Amino acid sequence: MAAATVSSPWFLLSSYRALRPRTTPANLILRLSGRRIRAPVGLIAPHTRLFRHITHAVDEEASARAAAARVDSGAPTIFDKIISKEIPSTVVYEDDKVLAFRDINPQAPVHVLIIPKQRDGLTELGKADHRHEEVLGRLLYAAKVVAEKEGISEGFRVVINNGASACQSVYHLHLHVLGGRQMKWPPG
Ligand code: 5GP
Repeated sequence: MAAATVSSPWFLLSSYRALRPRTTPANLILRLSGRRIRAPVGLIAPHTRLFRHITHAVDEEASARAAAARVDSGAPTIFDKIISKEIPSTVVYEDDKVLAFRDINPQAPVHVLIIPKQRDGLTELGKADHRHEEVLGRLLYAAKVVAEKEGISEGFRVVINNGASACQSVYHLHLHVLGGRQMKWPPG
């Protein structure tokens, strides 16, 4: 009999069965309570966490591809609405060129986004031109200022996701400043 290949329906079905969440005492209690509650991480069986991790990663990649497809529309992004205060945010630093505010979905105890107030074509770092050199320097310097203000100067990470394959989801250049926990390398 031919061996199953990674792409065969049998392989996919058995992988799904191996990874899908099964009933555990913790999620049985949640089901019996009749409510959809996100259980505390410690109560979730390891295979359930792995399943969630995989589905989250797939969602993230799909939404990054969808965002990349809209880039050239020139439409305002969510960050334009944050700059205009149409959407509230928690600002941690601001000057005439840059705005720094807390990420709505923090990936570390400190997770701050730093953006140029004028996008000026900087949908992503790959679109940078000579005229952007000053603002790029200001953004990086602001990362250092934010790290100091947040008390993470001894160890922090600055990330720029560029393009769909790096899972960029908002096409207004932004730096992520992350800290307050031990970072791992390589990143995912
Ligand atoms: P990217 O995936 O493009 O590198 O990062 C975009 C970031 O923007 C994500 O970390 C996401 O959580 C954050 N974000 C998206 N929408 C909002 C929002 O409405 N408010 C805030 N504060 N952050 C947001």
